[in-house]
Amino acid sequence: MNVIPTTINEFFNSIGGAFAFCWIQENTSEMAFRKAKFSILKYDWQIIDIEESPIEVSRSDFIDKDIGLENYDKAQAEGLAIVYAAWSKDGKTVMGPIKLKPSYTINLSNYLSEIKRHRKNGRCLHFEAGNRCNEYINAHSIQNKGQLEQIAENGHVYGVSNNYTDIIKNKGRVSYKKIGIKTISTFLGFCKNHDNELFEPIDNFPLKPINQQVMLYGYRSLCRELFVKENSLNMIKKQLASDISNETIKSYLCALDTGLAFGLTNLQAHKNIYDRSLKNEYYDDIRFVLFTSDQKQTIAFSGLMYPDFDFTGKQLQDLSDHTSCLDLITFCSAPMVNGWGFLFAWHQSRSKVCSMFMNSLKIAINESNRCEDYLFRLVVNSENIAISPIWWEGLTEDDKVKILNRVSDSVDFLSDISSSYLTNGLEGLSSWNFKNVITNVQD
Ligand SMILES: [Zn+2]
Repeated sequence: MNVIPTTINEFFNSIGGAFAFCWIQENTSEMAFRKAKFSILKYDWQIIDIEESPIEVSRSDFIDKDIGLENYDKAQAEGLAIVYAAWSKDGKTVMGPIKLKPSYTINLSNYLSEIKRHRKNGRCLHFEAGNRCNEYINAHSIQNKGQLEQIAENGHVYGVSNNYTDIIKNKGRVSYKKIGIKTISTFLGFCKNHDNELFEPIDNFPLKPINQQVMLYGYRSLCRELFVKENSLNMIKKQLASDISNETIKSYLCALDTGLAFGLTNLQAHKNIYDRSLKNEYYDDIRFVLFTSDQKQTIAFSGLMYPDFDFTGKQLQDLSDHTSCLDLITFCSAPMVNGWGFLFAWHQSRSKVCSMFMNSLKIAINESNRCEDYLFRLVVNSENIAISPIWWEGLTEDDKVKILNRVSDSVDFLSDISSSYLTNGLEGLSSWNFKNVITNVQD
């Protein structure tokens, strides 16, 4: 690409222009181009024109080409490599190779400590929270007893790593690491009294299921998401308040801020609906579909989603349309008397999209008979997940990579969500087997 330095580029006064040569490791040329473009803009350049569109290359193309080979290998290892061949403004000055510094860099280590600091900011999200709430506890969003203890080995499970060293080591890709069950899935979103009192029917009893239990599972997923998203929004606001002169970074953060705020408004609206039902102790407005298994549980999870594409790849709602209210469905694993269950739940008053979403699952299962694959794809996209070490370590390296690539793609901000992210991939990896479906939804 033909580029010129922007006014905030450290070489604005000395460099007239440059050619940017890019080696990008990506699945499609479109994604490779998008990634290269973002990276160039991030380093305070303006793109004047595209000299050559992305083409697929292999290592053999660069044999005997020092710089080419070096950067090909760098892209293989790190995801991308960009080299600028620049000319000076005065046409005379000559410089050797230098490492460029962008005007804006995020201090990852500070950023991660800031996340930790937010996580420690306890508050009570109970529908009757007030002055009497104190002693916020690190409540498990996935039960310790009955779930985490069941799948753990020596008190540990695998979960998504937020560790600085792991993130650097994996070049920003997602990795799983062993985490103690005392800390995984916990959040400071309830005071001790409210947590103990409200969730007693699900923390001390297996899922039968009765409507009250289902509503509580849904409510806990909702509150946890609200807690996490409130923290994320505060983080973004803080970053935006710092002086960012790079327009690409600034507009990226602004878009993130708008998206998060919109998601949070919707979460709060859904929580209000649940709050009212729980306050009135009226649980019959909850709708659920439960898949039951008599196997030993291998993965525990609790999450929610605004269904965007259904299980056949059809679009259900447009998450970028911020003028409408989004429908939301929660999903989690739950211990049962014999085995465990995969529970979907939603509130009757917001059921349009959820009904269509679940109907598409029915259609997909009828066609393929592989219910487990559909549910597994949904779960690996969730970040609030605890994995049995025995199961994870028993997978082949290839299968682990397939799963981690899938997770990483789902959080890559430059990737578009594929309409088929629930329809195919990761077939046969879950080793799950569901026996029955229980629901209170009437056809
Ligand atoms: Zn409270």
